[in-house]
Amino acid sequence: MADTYDYIIVGAGSAGCVLANRLTASGRHRVLLLEAGGHDRYFWVHVPLGYGKLFNDKRVNWLYSSEPEPELDNRRIIQPRGKLLGGSSSINGLLYIRGQHADYDHWRQLGNAGWSFEDVLPYFRRAEDQERGADALHGVGGPLSVSNVCEPHPLCEAFIAAAQEAGFPRNDDFNGPTQEGAGYFQYTARKGLRRSTAVGYLRQARRRPNLRLVTRALATRILLSGRRATGIEYRRGDATHVAHASAEVILAGGAFNSPQLMQLSGLGPAELLRQHGITVVADLPGVGADLQDHMQVRFQYRCTEPITMNDVVHHWRHRMLAGLRYFVSRKGLLAIGAGYAGAFLRTSPNLATPDVQLHFLIFSGETAGAALHTFPGFIVSVCQLRPESRGFVRITSADPRDPPAIQPRYLTARADRETLVAGMRVLQKIMREPAMRRYVAEERVPPPSVTTDEGLLAFARATSTTVFHPTSTCRMGPDATAVVDERLRVRGVERLRVVDASIMPTVVSGNTNAAAVMIGEKGSDMILQDAARAGPEIAADSRPRQPAIA
Ligand SMILES: Cc1cc2nc3c(=O)[nH]c(=O)nc-3n(C[C@H](O)[C@H](O)[C@H](O)COP(=O)(O)OP(=O)(O)OC[C@H]3O[C@@H](n4cnc5c(N)ncnc54)[C@H](O)[C@@H]3O)c2cc1C
Repeated sequence: MADTYDYIIVGAGSAGCVLANRLTASGRHRVLLLEAGGHDRYFWVHVPLGYGKLFNDKRVNWLYSSEPEPELDNRRIIQPRGKLLGGSSSINGLLYIRGQHADYDHWRQLGNAGWSFEDVLPYFRRAEDQERGADALHGVGGPLSVSNVCEPHPLCEAFIAAAQEAGFPRNDDFNGPTQEGAGYFQYTARKGLRRSTAVGYLRQARRRPNLRLVTRALATRILLSGRRATGIEYRRGDATHVAHASAEVILAGGAFNSPQLMQLSGLGPAELLRQHGITVVADLPGVGADLQDHMQVRFQYRCTEPITMNDVVHHWRHRMLAGLRYFVSRKGLLAIGAGYAGAFLRTSPNLATPDVQLHFLIFSGETAGAALHTFPGFIVSVCQLRPESRGFVRITSADPRDPPAIQPRYLTARADRETLVAGMRVLQKIMREPAMRRYVAEERVPPPSVTTDEGLLAFARATSTTVFHPTSTCRMGPDATAVVDERLRVRGVERLRVVDASIMPTVVSGNTNAAAVMIGEKGSDMILQDAARAGPEIAADSRPRQPAIA
């Protein structure tokens, strides 16, 4: 079966759904959207608290795992990724954080024209439907609903007060003029329901005749004519299909799968490709290199009062009431995402902007996604915002169904180890302030006996895990090893772009979904501008097409 479209998008994730919507809006372009996963009609995908149930659900998750991490006692770290409509925006923790203005100004300084904060702000605003209303930094009416936590919680209030006692400001908008301080998060949610990009962007686009969506379609190869992308080969069940793109092929498979698909197609480090018997089309050493991720260390506390989520989950009457409340008003514990309150802090007054982020969770369990403790408990985690360690994604065979080798190489840079220890000290300081102390029955993990820097670092090596923010494996930049240029075009290959979290030159200082959506917004504008410049042969006709397959 062969089909021809103007654009083929690989991956219906955070960025892919944005692209599918924006590229089909005018009705002038025929677009094929391929998604390896299936539909998103699962109860726990839409209820914010369900996030914790999706870590190990193979129906919606690629369930990747890292190679043994040399600086983390050779542990393998889980690497969940969404494998369904909406991609990781359908399984993530819903926290809406853009990062710091300085992150984007830094991207610009690295040589990426058009990516300073001033340049990207219109795209954040265009995407946004901010519950608090529009202002110079926020937008309303966009597909990505952003809402407040439904109500304050005494533990979060105590945490914010304790941060103030420790000398940090309160901040009621981490995406406002400054990121620094402690406060409540906002969620990508509307009326207590997750707002993935599948809900916000794709639902609308699916009604258009010029979009064809094929789910359970694993893209296996980029079709190339010399160094020009001409289409995609994909598998659906046992059948292999081919689709042609008259204008462009756009990769939006995310930070693990976009470089994997390039490598499988002969675009990557020549030596790696040869090892697996793949013909080298373009020797691109940067493909799969430069992987960055945020790593977190979680501190567990036993609480003095039964006011945590543990107490609700383990008591049938409270559980029933919480369920009832959610179904009636969409409020309460089921409406909570991966964090309730948080903080962005400077570990030293000499720093210009925060270098660590704290997530405050009103529940506790041994590991992410594990059963909650039967006693009242809560967790505070710390992560370094701008890690210097860089890792890789590499295919392990020429078979597209084999997961790639993933190694973020956490803590391999000395600066990362130092910042993390400093961050753990700041976390402890806040938790020992009077406002918080009254709720701490026990510092469970790590115990108070861990007092030295070496002890804290050893604790981090033994227990830390990912914050789920892999980026930069198809890095944008002006240098020879960068994979895409500032218009997200793959260097040395025509008609091929990458538009997802993998293009970030450096990981942003915060959670990465908002940035991936912004990249989708900006990427689609660049594609449409180029189409307009190229003229009518790319802006093809819009006769009715085959219906969506989902
Ligand atoms: C558990 C978890 C919690 C997170 N929490 C937060 C949070 O609270 N806040 C936040 O801002 N960020 C969070 N993130 C990170 C954020 O969601 C991601 O950075 C963002 O979604 C990445 O967007 P993307 O478009 O690059 O990739 P994705 O959204 O992952 O999309 C890639 C899509 O491509 C598909 N695909 C891949 N390969 C192929 C192929 N060969 N053929 C066809 N389809 C393919 C995938 O199935 C997927 O649907 C979290 C992530 C995870 C996994």
